[in-house]
Amino acid sequence: MTKEQLRQFFEENGDKAFRGNQVYEWLWNKGCHSFEAMTNLSKATRALLESHFVINHIRVDQMQRSKDGTIKNAVRLHDGLVVESVLIPTPTRTTACVSSQVGCSLDCKFCATARLKRMRNLNPDEIYDQVVAIDNESRLYHNRPLSNIVFMGMGEPLMNYNNVIKAIDKITAEEGLGMSPRRIVVSTSGVPKMIKKMADDQVRFGLAVSLHSAIDEVRTRIMPFNKQFSLTALREALEYWYEKTKSRVTYEYVVWKGINDRKEDIDALLQFCTYIPCKVNLIEYNPIDDGEFQQASSAAIDHYITALEAKGIVVNVRRSRGKDIDAACGQLANKS
Ligand code: SAH
Repeated sequence: MTKEQLRQFFEENGDKAFRGNQVYEWLWNKGCHSFEAMTNLSKATRALLESHFVINHIRVDQMQRSKDGTIKNAVRLHDGLVVESVLIPTPTRTTACVSSQVGCSLDCKFCATARLKRMRNLNPDEIYDQVVAIDNESRLYHNRPLSNIVFMGMGEPLMNYNNVIKAIDKITAEEGLGMSPRRIVVSTSGVPKMIKKMADDQVRFGLAVSLHSAIDEVRTRIMPFNKQFSLTALREALEYWYEKTKSRVTYEYVVWKGINDRKEDIDALLQFCTYIPCKVNLIEYNPIDDGEFQQASSAAIDHYITALEAKGIVVNVRRSRGKDIDAACGQLANKS
């Protein structure tokens, strides 16, 4: 509930609206998990709360630490389901990688989360609380607050758009975490209708698209939902996005042996990169299965880098973090 809704609840129940502010502060500034502990409220007020509400907070069930400093949290939700979130430290930043759904509604063949299927959407508070948990861990283990957030954990954020937006509103609000939207990136497999909606909403956070191939036939093979959301529709949505936001997009791209390591794959990506200003992150493949997918040779990856750079496109090679604890891209699958 919003602070306003809480205030209204108290008014309607013959108490002072101001109680709403107090409860809100207990919940969101002090991280309080029981009405009993809200000691500046009268017994009667606490009983009133007790009879109307429950506090569905998350609990970090298990925390694993990688030798590279990455931390993975198994987060238990009030109904017993579990999602994972990851803290990724670099010399200059601490990034939280958070989940937006339990499992995932999409069916990317190379991703472990896809195998869980979608069980439910996370609500805004469950998303927000993952961020708070990581912020606390960042302060504790790395002596600095969280600096960035990526929606690259479990789930497809644009299939849970409203709740993701509400969570981001709270993360960026002064009375939430006061974080700049410029430090937040939402990653999507590419849901054209929702990219347009984001553009209409004039969101101020960054957009990343998991592209992996700019050839429909190849992309449909590895990301079957591409059959419904074709690259043409994606292109149109991205052009609309750029027109409305003037914000460049990041393409995430894994190069696999025998799948997208040919010259025509590179040419198609170069062509796709002409549509709107962009940069490309080449992600290392994290094997999740018995070898259907294999990382391409470093020569093949070098061909990509050379070709992109020759066209003046910024390209970063992203090495995996937290692989030893199954915390890297595509590995989140509640293994433990
Ligand atoms: N559903 C959203 C958010 C998940 S982000 C999206 O697809 O963008 C997770 C990122 O890791 C995506 O770019 C995804 O394509 C990538 N990924 C999935 N499985 C992977 C794997 N096994 N190795 C490397 N990257 C992987």
